[in-house]
Amino acid sequence: QLPIIYFVTPTYPRREQIPELTRLAYTLLHVPRLHWLVANDQEKCDTFLDTLLSGFGIPFTHMASPMPSKFRKSKPAPRGVANRRAALLWLQQHNLTNGVLYFGDDDNTYDLRLFSEIRQTQRVSMFPVGLIADYAVSGPVVRDGKVVAFLDSWVAGRRWPVDMAGFAVNLAYMSQYPNVNMPYKPGYEEDLFLRSIGLRIDQIEPRGNNCTDILVWHTQTKSKKSPVVNVESKYLDGRSNLGP
Ligand code: UDP
Ligand code: MN
Repeated sequence: QLPIIYFVTPTYPRREQIPELTRLAYTLLHVPRLHWLVANDQEKCDTFLDTLLSGFGIPFTHMASPMPSKFRKSKPAPRGVANRRAALLWLQQHNLTNGVLYFGDDDNTYDLRLFSEIRQTQRVSMFPVGLIADYAVSGPVVRDGKVVAFLDSWVAGRRWPVDMAGFAVNLAYMSQYPNVNMPYKPGYEEDLFLRSIGLRIDQIEPRGNNCTDILVWHTQTKSKKSPVVNVESKYLDGRSNLGP
């Protein structure tokens, strides 16, 4: 039987939330043996989101994982960190030591071949992510089938200068590291998470034709705050146009 992919999606309430999750759901519906962990940046699980998620027919767990209020005002804020931490805790608490963990944000774009590439991850697999910062790509450099370096437009002293969507982790491997952690440190989440699972560069499994295929993109939806509109007056104006 295929190993289960635990696909962890941080999400948060805003007007783009439902369309983002809908688009992602219709990608994930093509993927067998996947459990979708949807962690919402909100105090409580809201029933509307729960109903939406149930309707897709994907095996899922919906959790509420609010960003601690002291981080809300910080710039940059640790986006999606409380969510991923909640998912890591959930995996630990359910003693899930079989399968593969992947962090898949709600606004990225996923080629279906990504899922077959990551499913057989033994420790940690890595692959390029498209549309990252200035270089428009971030990913491992591979020589003779081994990862030897990283290409990234913002290395910033990181041992693992990779994007959150650029790696997958085997849960049996991760469970050997009880101190696995993702700290609230914007920009350094991937690096510190990977440091917490004792990885050596020669152990990394390059995927996607030795990291030459791009199978995931860091797309970002143009966002807009909901303006305050007087719905009632627009309705009355519209109706008055119909005439008597
Ligand atoms: N996110 C969140 N709370 C926030 C902002 C973002 O949970 O206040 C989630 C968001 O839904 C996404 C992830 O965290 O899955 C990363 O955020 P975003 O896509 O805005 O950041 P990017 O890396 O694209 O700049
Ligand atoms: Mn994003």
